[in-house]
Amino acid sequence: VEALVRWEHPDLGLIGPGQFIPIAEETGLIVPLGEWVLREACSEALRWVDGHLDAPDFLLSVNLSARQLAQEDLAERIAMILDETGFPAEQLALEITESVIMDDTEATLHALHALKGLGVKLVIDDFGTGYSSLAYLKRFAVDLLKIDRTFIQSIADDAEDAVIVSGIISLAHALGLRVVAEGGETDAQLDRLRDLDCDLAQGFLLARPMPAAAIDRYLTVRRLAA
Ligand code: MN
Repeated sequence: VEALVRWEHPDLGLIGPGQFIPIAEETGLIVPLGEWVLREACSEALRWVDGHLDAPDFLLSVNLSARQLAQEDLAERIAMILDETGFPAEQLALEITESVIMDDTEATLHALHALKGLGVKLVIDDFGTGYSSLAYLKRFAVDLLKIDRTFIQSIADDAEDAVIVSGIISLAHALGLRVVAEGGETDAQLDRLRDLDCDLAQGFLLARPMPAAAIDRYLTVRRLAA
């Protein structure tokens, strides 16, 4: 489950992240906002019925921005949130976009090692869209690669994109990483991803974005149907 923020504005109604996240990034408000999202997501997930969090493969994904990664005390802040909420570190996946991780500074390296030390999972978001040096996969001890939707959307009818995705999956598996495909929207795309041995997929065909309160019910229905 990936936490995605919406802004419920008193006059304008529900505002999508595309409209306010860039401004939050620009102004630096993304730092307190990102921290708020993480705390809310952890405590919300703990309110879901017993059983979901016990599933060994359950992960709560939360996006981290470049500005948050630049905070010297980021790991301490996240440790405090885990402590306050009681959310299990090993079931929290922090998503960092490839372009941020490519800023291969000592500060980034330090921040990622500190995060790893908490026991959380690290995910490279939008994989395949940034600068294609792969050395950092080794340096940063990431757990999951999330392949960008642009590759997934044409995977069923573009032979070259299928080759790229297949290559990313083989590379990831050889390095001991799992792969998430983002943007699976048709049966043909999911079939293709299965053929290519992709581990996980995320997209409208599997589940549309839903309010946190609806996820408990959604997971329960799925569990009963399984
Ligand atoms: Mn993400």
